[in-house]
Amino acid sequence: MGVGRVRSIVSDLAPYRPGKGAKQAEAEHGIADAIKLASNENPYSPPPSVQKAIQDAAAGVNRYSDHGAAELRSKLANWLGVDSDCIAVGCGSSGLLQQVCVAYIDPGDEVVSPWRSFEAYPIFVALTNGKLVPVPLTDDHRIDLDAVAAAVGPKTKAVMLATPNNPTGLALSTAEIAEFMSKIPDDVLVVVDEAYREFSDPAFGDPVKDLVGRFPNIVVTRTFSKAYGLAGLRTGYAVADPTVIDELDKVLLAFSVNLLAQAGAIAALDSLDEIQVLVDSLLDERTRVVDALRTAGAEFPDPQGNFVWLPIGGRTDAVAHALEQRGVVVRPFSGEGIRVTIGTPEENDRFLATYADVTG
Ligand SMILES: *Cc1c(COP(=O)(O)O)cnc(C)c1O
Repeated sequence: MGVGRVRSIVSDLAPYRPGKGAKQAEAEHGIADAIKLASNENPYSPPPSVQKAIQDAAAGVNRYSDHGAAELRSKLANWLGVDSDCIAVGCGSSGLLQQVCVAYIDPGDEVVSPWRSFEAYPIFVALTNGKLVPVPLTDDHRIDLDAVAAAVGPKTKAVMLATPNNPTGLALSTAEIAEFMSKIPDDVLVVVDEAYREFSDPAFGDPVKDLVGRFPNIVVTRTFSKAYGLAGLRTGYAVADPTVIDELDKVLLAFSVNLLAQAGAIAALDSLDEIQVLVDSLLDERTRVVDALRTAGAEFPDPQGNFVWLPIGGRTDAVAHALEQRGVVVRPFSGEGIRVTIGTPEENDRFLATYADVTG
């Protein structure tokens, strides 16, 4: 028994396991030069202009940040073509997803999510004493929107849809989501989690333009962590009806979108062209990795994020372990598959060679 009377929901929770770091793998396996392809981070530093803005902001950290992030909000609003009051800024998009649960989920309420999906969802739902209702993906790794709609019942408060989905990498089109919305009651929030939007084919549509406004119960979440290379600073945003934004804002931990994070995100929005160059190079690398793996006989869904999902089932743990012993850290989902982040060309070469070695 530990000290204090911890909530049973918390003591039952497995500790959050972030993707293993390269240093940790090096220590565990007694190796050097490990690479981390486990957390879908951008392998590139942000553009110099963004780094400079963060450095310049550092002198001001004796003050709290602007809790309302007014400048960042208005910049996002201009860029996205929506009103400022339709935007919430949070401590990563994870922060906003947690705010959705804190603001809307009472004990016993249900949150429906395709599964497997983002591992933070069950944690946020559990912490509010809600119940996550998982809806299995199809055999070809797709989100089964008909089954998700069928799982929505009188206790459902929210639906979580990650598109592209993590870890399977497939995306939903806004046309598919719009059709799905016709089956969902107006008082159920549908969260469209677009953490990887910048890596997906524009033909899937833009949920902010195509869905928010048309469906007041849609909440789109996005992040500066992945494509923008600001994972270490944690800033995300949500676009939704102003009444939803008001409730989300009420439960934002004070000043949790910190000063450096706001400065970095603002500068990133001023450096979109430079960031696009980095994203494009990652997309070229994704194509190269996909082609090489398929040529070698691997079968997997077409990735729409900055990662590849290899559904190798029962071989998952052994392959992930063998890769790690050789200094390539990927993210295993035991019994299901491994998720491999697209890195620099050198890192990807190393992954491809090592994967061929351990699976050949
Ligand atoms: C990485 C990720 C996020 C959020 O990351 P933040 O750093 O908290 O913005 C959200 N959803 C999915 C599906 C992700 O993979």
